[in-house]
Amino acid sequence: MVDRVRRTISRYNLLKYDDKILVAISGGKDSLSLLKILERIERDFPHSRLYAVMIDEGIGGYRAGCVAVAERFCSALGVPFTSLSFKNLFGFTLSEVVKSGVLEDLGLTPCTVCGIFRRKALTIAARRLGATVIATAHTLDDVVQTYLLNLLKGEVNMKPVGLRRENGQAIPRVAPLRLTPQREIALYAYLENIPFQTTTCPYTHTSMRDRVRSFMAWYAANKPEALFSFLKNFERLLEKAGQRVESRCEICGEPSSRKICRACEIELLIKDRLRR
Ligand code: SF4
Repeated sequence: MVDRVRRTISRYNLLKYDDKILVAISGGKDSLSLLKILERIERDFPHSRLYAVMIDEGIGGYRAGCVAVAERFCSALGVPFTSLSFKNLFGFTLSEVVKSGVLEDLGLTPCTVCGIFRRKALTIAARRLGATVIATAHTLDDVVQTYLLNLLKGEVNMKPVGLRRENGQAIPRVAPLRLTPQREIALYAYLENIPFQTTTCPYTHTSMRDRVRSFMAWYAANKPEALFSFLKNFERLLEKAGQRVESRCEICGEPSSRKICRACEIELLIKDRLRR
């Protein structure tokens, strides 16, 4: 597994020899496996640094257990661990937002809000730590699901998922597991005795990704090569379509195709509703 990830990093130039790598961890098997694999690979690059960061969204009865598991695991690997919460960064927990009813009014699911703010929180963490790249544990399955979801949403400005794109001051994101199927990571975590958190998030069933995941699992069971061929062919199409030039959000300054990025827009709407 370590060699496979090493080959993926080298094939797509995901990491540099002196990167300060923020590894986004959730306490699940994918992210803790990624941390362990990167810790092994980066031993060969003494100028690089690893930091593990967990974002606590404030999901009642779910995240607290993950924080403890992840913290112990990082300490055993000797990787500095940081946890940041939605409450401290944005002033609300995900559970508070869901309970307030504001998501129904805005036509959003908990996962949409969770994903947008987790992304924003990771960027804040990376800037605080001086990280040069953010590594996420998106597997082959996750990357394909993201492309399919974007297609279903009619997204016209799609970017390659998990490939390093240097874009001014923006911190690049990479997915070193993008060529590794989920089931192989599960097997790796099991064989390596990685103590991952097994509780399922109470909001999983509300997401469109959950349905796309079920469909892909069914489809790939009948056509095992489907995920690889989709990734290869779809990314060829993306390459041909070229990339649009991105502007920056007028509020947070991060790259965005809109004047005000989706994260800032939703943050303003939620804060406005919670104040009433
Ligand atoms: Fe967040 Fe949805 Fe994942 Fe739960 S299932 S952690 S709400 S993205």
